[in-house]
Amino acid sequence: MTRSVNPQTSWTSHRVSGFTESVIREMTRLAKQHNALNLAQGFPDWDPPEVMMQAACDAIRGGVNQYSITWGSPNLRQAIADKYGWYQRMDVDPETMVTVTCGATEGMISSLMAIIDPGDEVIVFEPFYENYGPDTILSGATPRHVTLHEPDWHIDGGELSAAFNEHTKAIIINTPNNPTGKVFSRDELMLIGELCQQWNALAVTDEIYEHILYDGSEHVSITTLPGMEDRTITVNAASKTFSATGWRVGWVVAAPYLTNAIRKVHDFLTVGAPAPLQEGVAAALQLPLHYYTNLSATYEKKRNYLIEGLENSGFRCCTPSGAYYIMTDFSDIDSRTDAEFARYLISEVGIAAVPGSSFYHDPAMGRKKIRFLYAKKERTLQQAVEMIGRLKPHRP
Ligand code: GLN
Repeated sequence: MTRSVNPQTSWTSHRVSGFTESVIREMTRLAKQHNALNLAQGFPDWDPPEVMMQAACDAIRGGVNQYSITWGSPNLRQAIADKYGWYQRMDVDPETMVTVTCGATEGMISSLMAIIDPGDEVIVFEPFYENYGPDTILSGATPRHVTLHEPDWHIDGGELSAAFNEHTKAIIINTPNNPTGKVFSRDELMLIGELCQQWNALAVTDEIYEHILYDGSEHVSITTLPGMEDRTITVNAASKTFSATGWRVGWVVAAPYLTNAIRKVHDFLTVGAPAPLQEGVAAALQLPLHYYTNLSATYEKKRNYLIEGLENSGFRCCTPSGAYYIMTDFSDIDSRTDAEFARYLISEVGIAAVPGSSFYHDPAMGRKKIRFLYAKKERTLQQAVEMIGRLKPHRP
């Protein structure tokens, strides 16, 4: 017997109807279709460090092709703990405090699923990286948005305090921040930490851009601030630091009681991250400090170059202090919406970027914004700037 589909009844879940295809990934799809330069999705157009690729190849040839321990290979967990030790002066036990995940993306969703109960609220700064929307929906949390105010994307302490209440389970922090490039200051993180302690909430911090910093700005991990060690979940990955977004190797560092819960979700969601690639990342984590300082210096030049090109073409740019995106306002050159403008940029100008509305819970707030990526080779950025220079103002 065949079941007939009743078009009135949706067989897909209520949960997924709450969100659409990732706008960032959609832009990548359209960029491919139109053969446009992809300044939308955040990945570089060069390879990871040689030592990392070699170690992964050696691992594959050397028989590391079956499941690793579900929460991560011992080598990689040890390398992660050592790196936090010398770089952040954090005392991380690789046995009880580290979970290796399929990218920071899985790290975030596993963490939220491990802590959220129905009725819990999660505070999300806005504009936010689009995944946090679906993350809250999938984990069953109610999001509360707190605005980062332009031009420096600062927090209003009063607004932040007002967002906390007895239902607040966690606050999501992303520093350095995507899409704004804001690097949260020690004072801001102190305030967040105090509020977490006052309201008995957790901090879930996505620090995937920790090594991409400009103008001497300092990355502070909230877990290192007074009283926060046991109430912080720190998410990170190899993707941005080691230019390996397709490897899908990330990790979560948290106190043992939190790690226990996160490992349970992770185990049943994915079993584990790719075993040989974990060995590659373990090798990359041995790289010395100057690898990281070079990374920032390289990106700083690219940032300055693209900002100049964009400003010369009439975009208003917020100069990022970290990460590798520029949030721009195109009101002075085009009267269309962000989505229309993004489509025009792809099909007529040959550049893909991300419409601003995808970073806001109320799309109206991002209607005149568009995000550009500069994790691209010099030649690619030169081409992009030439193409943007040919853009015609559009005012009907
Ligand atoms: N984090 C990157 C961005 O914001 C990549 C997003 C993705 O596709 N996972 O563009």
